[in-house]
Amino acid sequence: MDLGIRGKTALVCAGSKGLGRGCAEALAEAGVDLVLNARGAEALEATAAHIRAAQGVRVTAVAADITTEAGRAAVLQAAGGPVDILVTNAGGPPPGLWSDWSREDFIKALDANMLTPIALMQALLPGMIARKWGRVVNITSQSVKAPIPQLGLSNAARAGLTGFVAGTARQVAEHGVTINNLLPGIHATDRADALDGGVARAQGISLDEARRRREATIPVRRYGTAAEFGAACAFLCSVHAGFIVGQNILLDGGAGNATL
Ligand code: NAP
Repeated sequence: MDLGIRGKTALVCAGSKGLGRGCAEALAEAGVDLVLNARGAEALEATAAHIRAAQGVRVTAVAADITTEAGRAAVLQAAGGPVDILVTNAGGPPPGLWSDWSREDFIKALDANMLTPIALMQALLPGMIARKWGRVVNITSQSVKAPIPQLGLSNAARAGLTGFVAGTARQVAEHGVTINNLLPGIHATDRADALDGGVARAQGISLDEARRRREATIPVRRYGTAAEFGAACAFLCSVHAGFIVGQNILLDGGAGNATL
């Protein structure tokens, strides 16, 4: 299927690895030029070089912490011209217990997983509205639909973003701009390894055993891949997805046991 977005420009945040990279690769495959961001320059440059060589699109790599005002300013400045597609993403907050977290911990989580995507939308939506076309996909989490007890910071911050998107998506839709959220269940990335590592240490089992136990909780009996996730993102950014507005789309291999 031709996604109809060849020649457009996407800003993909936190995209040198994992789910962000999956989105960047799928958009590049559809012919989209990229502004690609992550903090670590080495992995970012390697991913950018790989995508340029594989897809022949323009990739502007910007090493910056997207959760800071200075980082966002650097990324937006490097983008220069119009940005048609925005994929927001950042690292997830650390696990812990509800009683552990201080006000500062909450502020950090809110900054990373709620206020950063909101600030990027505020910066880029006006241009999309003026050009009468735009796509925003926020990478959030399955924790929006079903809380993950040890990830209370994520549960809280992402719920705030979800509320913002629910209203805003319906305000910008008349201008040809869609905003949707993609909710990853467990995907095979460094983040999943880090969480499995924590479980392995806590329970005195191997990393492989921790992963096997978690895979057994998913109806497809495996973790999702970044490529599968990226393909869903690229479709949401396509010309075919103009009637999909303000949705929270769960990609979890059936793990969320719910009828609706
Ligand atoms: P990942 O494999 O650890 O990759 C994270 C990517 O984000 C890397 O490219 C990293 O590069 C970049 N990054 C992290 N913090 C950043 C920052 N402050 N500024 C700019 N770039 C940043 O993570 P992932 O599994 O793809 O997860 C992506 C998001 O989905 C996270 O918010 C995670 O909580 C959420 N999620 C993941 C899963 C899963 O199973 N994987 C499930 C539910 C939710 P640098 O470190 O070099 O910056």
